[in-house]
Amino acid sequence: MSATLIDGKVFAASVRDKVATHVARLKEAMGVTPGLAVVLVGDDPASEVYVRSKGKMTVEVGMNSYEHKLPAETSEVDLLALIEALNADKDVHGILVQLPLPDHLNEALVINAIDPAKDVDGFHISNVGLLSTGQKAMVPCTPLGCLMMLRDHHGSLSGLNAVVIGRSNIVGKPMAQLLLGDSCTVTIAHSRTKDLPEVVRRADIVVAAVGRANFVQGDWIKPGATVIDVGINRIPAPEKGAGKSRLVGDVDFTSASTVAGAITPVPGGVGPMTIACLLANTLTACCRSHGFAEPEGLTA
Ligand code: NDP
Repeated sequence: MSATLIDGKVFAASVRDKVATHVARLKEAMGVTPGLAVVLVGDDPASEVYVRSKGKMTVEVGMNSYEHKLPAETSEVDLLALIEALNADKDVHGILVQLPLPDHLNEALVINAIDPAKDVDGFHISNVGLLSTGQKAMVPCTPLGCLMMLRDHHGSLSGLNAVVIGRSNIVGKPMAQLLLGDSCTVTIAHSRTKDLPEVVRRADIVVAAVGRANFVQGDWIKPGATVIDVGINRIPAPEKGAGKSRLVGDVDFTSASTVAGAITPVPGGVGPMTIACLLANTLTACCRSHGFAEPEGLTA
């Protein structure tokens, strides 16, 4: 491996430290404690793990965590009533509805019922519009984490060629908007892109958000390029024992890390940054709602 490893665990810890320092200052100087409400509908085990981990880290940085666990059969009316109550609650600065929701609930309707100023996932249509028009928005956590790591590694991103593989609303599209905001020349690739390897070879920055294990090959990467691997894919790992599995990214790390200038690993790359950015967004939402100065280096 010749690439520099961009260590998301270390970076995420430094983001959480900055958040904790700022939270402590807010409490002392202003008597305000940022609060994050997380709403979980149903008992999907993976979602329960995420929600528990979000709650634990929220408390660790000194913020208040409010967990709302609702049964799978919760009606849309009841869920919207809870969101309305959280919108009105002055102690709640951030609201996150854990996705996916059970099939009978309309995800877009629920997300768009959140007060955009408290929409710490950045999925509300107003925040999508603000981001795409270059205005101050709540920015989705995963792309925000990728942007922070890229800025840290490169300093200025201005003029660099960036290829984002994937055009989802939660990763690909907002990632492309953020890179455009930092004056990259951005290409968004997807399943219909012709000659993807050739497109990727032009990139100084590659962000892979595809959802296919080890998809991006080393010989697609321009020598020295920075590779951000958003993918989280579970594959069988018979070498660890029968029935065992392990996580890999969307990039074939072994081949890509011999060509890239810098690369994020999976696990331990983008993943830890996502929760750290959720905390950063909650702090930002709190500061904006009170008219306090925003924390430096924690926003887009
Ligand atoms: P989606 O399934 O919503 O989007 C995948 C995108 O990849 C689509 O735009 C699709 O194109 C594109 N794609 C699929 N196959 C190909 C192909 N052969 N060539 C080029 N493009 C292709 O996924 P998400 O954006 O939600 O997530 C992507 C990955 O990131 C997943 O592994 C997910 O688990 C992970 N993830 C990780 C997070 C983290 O915290 N680290 C957070 C969120 C996601 P098309 O639109 O044409 O179908």
